[in-house]
Amino acid sequence: MLGEVLIAGFESTSHTFGVGIVSGRGEDVRIIANINDKYVPLKGGIHPREAAQHHVKTAPRILKKAFEKAGISIGDVSGFAVSLGPGLGPCLRVGASLARFLSSYYNKPLIPVNHAVAHVEIGKFLYGFNDPLIIYVSGGNTLIAVQRKKRYRVLGETLDLPLGNLLDTFAREAGLAPPYIVNGKHVVDLCAEKGSNFIPLPYSIKGIDLSFSGLLTAALKLAEKHKGDPDKLGDICLSLRETAFNMLVEVAERALVLTRKKQVLLVGGVAANTYLKEKLSKMAELHNAIYAGTPPEYSGDNGAMIAYTGYLGYIHGLRIDPERAVVRQRWRIDEVDLPWLPD
Ligand code: AMP
Ligand code: MG
Repeated sequence: MLGEVLIAGFESTSHTFGVGIVSGRGEDVRIIANINDKYVPLKGGIHPREAAQHHVKTAPRILKKAFEKAGISIGDVSGFAVSLGPGLGPCLRVGASLARFLSSYYNKPLIPVNHAVAHVEIGKFLYGFNDPLIIYVSGGNTLIAVQRKKRYRVLGETLDLPLGNLLDTFAREAGLAPPYIVNGKHVVDLCAEKGSNFIPLPYSIKGIDLSFSGLLTAALKLAEKHKGDPDKLGDICLSLRETAFNMLVEVAERALVLTRKKQVLLVGGVAANTYLKEKLSKMAELHNAIYAGTPPEYSGDNGAMIAYTGYLGYIHGLRIDPERAVVRQRWRIDEVDLPWLPD
């Protein structure tokens, strides 16, 4: 009989402070806690120092709640996992300090986790996917990847803005946000509901790479020109979303045709978007591939994805000395060797 492995994971790369706890006994792996708290700026975008202060303030409460939910004590865990990057320096340091301290205090191993890898692994875990074409879209990342030779390999990515950042920046500059998400919907989607006409906007893809900055500038210029006209703003929101999503679907289709994968997995915060899901699932179906998109509870930043990826690391012997566990703001997904991936 295999013993139970319990891993607590800490997420603090950007706006969210989260604690997840995973229990694993051989094939039986379960998420037993996923408690998160998001910093929402009163105005403007994410202020890294303010977000870090939010994390420091909420950490004790979130930690307590997560262990209560899991029904275990901190000392019961087999190891602590922490997201060391990529992300915002001040935010990353909150999770890293906490994890280093707990690992040293309880004398339990520390497992380093790359945040981008965690977004992918939680999606694979939820759907039992083993070799998907990965579409990772969030506030800070937009890329298409596949696994090969123990790493995730990036086939294409944004050359400038990430997709989430495009939607958020447009919403903010056009006076629609914050908040960016209302009742689970992005404010650009809510605004698009008032639109009915498609306006052609810059559509820029190169091979499997994309560029969103021209699209943002053009949409903002139009919004400025038609200030005070809600119908026109609706048309602009609709056109911005459709153009950006169609660009993503086209590069994903190019990658799918190239790699001939039979699974398509959408991960990251923007995976919560129903319009994007619909487009990608249709595209996958056209190529006889199975589509899955991470559900909202696990698509945005969360502690469970760090705990689960930490669990994979733990059972494969991945460890880091707490004294060496420094944060890496620009730690790319394709820089990490992952012992659980096939050769
Ligand atoms: P993450 O950094 O992975 O937590 O993702 C956050 C990003 O996801 C932000 O840019 C959000 O605006 C975006 N996001 C969250 N929910 C939605 C949604 N329903 N539609 C579009 N974007 C979303
Ligand atoms: Mg993220």
